[in-house]
Amino acid sequence: MKPPAFDYEAPTSLAEALALKARHGEDARFLAGGQSLVPAMNFRLVRPAVLIDLNGVADLDHLSCSSSGALGIGALVRHARVESDREVARHQPLLVEAIREVAHPQVRNRGTLCGNLAHADPASELPAVMVALKAQLHAVSIRGERSIPAADFFQGTYTTALEPDELLARVQLEPLPTGTGTAFLELARRPGDYAMMGVAVLLQLDASGACTDARVVCCGAGDRPVASAATAAVLRAATPGSDPVALEALCEAAGAALAASIDPPGTVHVTADYQRHLAQVLAARAIAMAFGRAAAHSPRRSI
Ligand SMILES: Cc1cc2nc3c(=O)[nH]c(=O)nc-3n(C[C@H](O)[C@H](O)[C@H](O)COP(=O)(O)OP(=O)(O)OC[C@H]3O[C@@H](n4cnc5c(N)ncnc54)[C@H](O)[C@@H]3O)c2cc1C
Repeated sequence: MKPPAFDYEAPTSLAEALALKARHGEDARFLAGGQSLVPAMNFRLVRPAVLIDLNGVADLDHLSCSSSGALGIGALVRHARVESDREVARHQPLLVEAIREVAHPQVRNRGTLCGNLAHADPASELPAVMVALKAQLHAVSIRGERSIPAADFFQGTYTTALEPDELLARVQLEPLPTGTGTAFLELARRPGDYAMMGVAVLLQLDASGACTDARVVCCGAGDRPVASAATAAVLRAATPGSDPVALEALCEAAGAALAASIDPPGTVHVTADYQRHLAQVLAARAIAMAFGRAAAHSPRRSI
């Protein structure tokens, strides 16, 4: 299959790329890894008049991780680089755990984190992870720069808060506090497929072992990442302690709260009821994993 005809621009600086986008607006698309855009063009689902290839803009190919764990990921950083970076794995294990579930190595070698987020596929793992981690997404245009919280960035299927002249230049993640545990679990029909349901969990324990923060975010459960306040409420203030029976009961109650609080759409591959069942089971397991990891990193080390 071949895409419709388009003009091709290959800027070598960020200023040039932004000027081109400002000139062409919605008629132009940025080309990053091309792993979503090119298939969509080949299927004639999108027909941009102009492609602005970012791959020659060296400024965008930067990944920085401070000693405290603050992470900046530029627009040209490929999934594979994030996945293999030891410092990222140490400071942001949730991102690495989820990115390993994205597609196949070949796709991860070309596809970018920022391209994935700008594409805003509600079945994708990474928007849910960004919401769970409270990422800040930095948009730039010739008008200036602004920072958008992940929870506000995703506005619907393939729809984001980016204006027609804006580029998603960088994702910024803050260090996770001591006592934080995270986990990502999903079920896909085949390895590398988009998930039928996925659950990202972040829990934080204080020195007494009480849960002070809980975030549970699903992918595939709606037209954007779905964060469940009801599930977080079950977990916050709980003190799972060292009793495995009590911990299991807590995780199951949280999974049930998640299933009751979401309204998944169903797809040609999976019914809404089965998606809800998956959310319940995956959440209970992911929450148990996250509690174990949080305890291993907490001052108390109680579980
Ligand atoms: C076989 C296959 C399986 C896949 N499976 C999964 C999966 O399981 N989970 C998953 O999450 N993804 C999956 N993907 C998609 C993959 O993760 C893509 O790499 C990603 O979604 C898009 O990244 P990209 O760099 O290739 O972006 P591109 O395809 O280049 O661009 C995608 C869209 O984002 C825009 N864009 C790109 N970069 C920017 C930017 N910096 N600022 C503003 N707009 C921008 C483009 O204009 C375009 O509209 C799969 C892809 C394939 C081909």
